[in-house]
Amino acid sequence: MGNIIIQNETTADPISLIGREAGVCWGGNVTDPEKNYKRGLDCLLSGHGRTWEYPQVYMVLDGYSARVIREFYTHIAGGPTRLQASTRYINYQKGFPYVTAPSLKAKRSAKAIYDEAMNSILKAMQELEAMDIPREDIGMLLPLAMETKVVVRTNLRNLIDMSHQRMCTRAYWEYRNLMQDMIKALNEYSDEWKYLTEHYFQPKCEVCGFCTEAKCCGRKPRKEELS
Ligand SMILES: Cc1cc2nc3c(=O)[nH]c(=O)nc-3n(C[C@H](O)[C@H](O)[C@H](O)COP(=O)(O)OP(=O)(O)OC[C@H]3O[C@@H](n4cnc5c(N)ncnc54)[C@H](O)[C@@H]3O)c2cc1C
Repeated sequence: MGNIIIQNETTADPISLIGREAGVCWGGNVTDPEKNYKRGLDCLLSGHGRTWEYPQVYMVLDGYSARVIREFYTHIAGGPTRLQASTRYINYQKGFPYVTAPSLKAKRSAKAIYDEAMNSILKAMQELEAMDIPREDIGMLLPLAMETKVVVRTNLRNLIDMSHQRMCTRAYWEYRNLMQDMIKALNEYSDEWKYLTEHYFQPKCEVCGFCTEAKCCGRKPRKEELS
């Protein structure tokens, strides 16, 4: 199971920060915390997207599959910074933890096949190591299910946009879980983040009012059904 740690470098008062920065350009009173907070809310409500790029999020994502992190990396808006656990320097020869899907966990015979495939990868890696093959070359065998760790810096705007895609019922289950873990971690970090996740982290159908996916889950009607 994955775990998300919000690091101390993360903006604690994202709404107030938005209000302070916007206030500079509007000739507003940026020394009044109440006015800053209200101005921040106005920027959010008005959809002034650039202002959402001020709040920064630094976080560690740990124990998610390399596969879901590969999907995470496609979200490039705002020039996020990411570092990932090395498959060259970390020694996986004693075993690599991996993610198991609920469908496999629910069926013992299927899980046995899955675990056996992982064991055979590990065995091959150990045999190649014994033959003095460089570890960076052996690492090519590591599966997408292997757990990994990344340290990320991104911003509010990127995460709101990500939520529209990845909280969609059609998104990969592990990413949907990751989004819920992220929301929980941000909620615990500060009340202003809790407000933001509750009001702005949502699937795209909630934003549009209709489903944009080819295969609709039924949560919202399709656009053509509305007219
Ligand atoms: C059901 C589902 C299935 C999917 N299947 C696949 C799949 O099979 N393969 C796959 O690779 N991905 C898949 N995805 C992921 C998806 O297609 C996107 O790659 C992913 O959401 C990240 O891209 P993005 O544009 O949403 O986000 P970002 O790249 O973070 O962009 C966010 C926003 O910033 C703006 N922006 C970003 N870059 C530019 C630019 N260069 N120029 C102008 N504006 C820009 C756009 O407004 C964009 O919407 C799937 C997603 C879902 C929900």
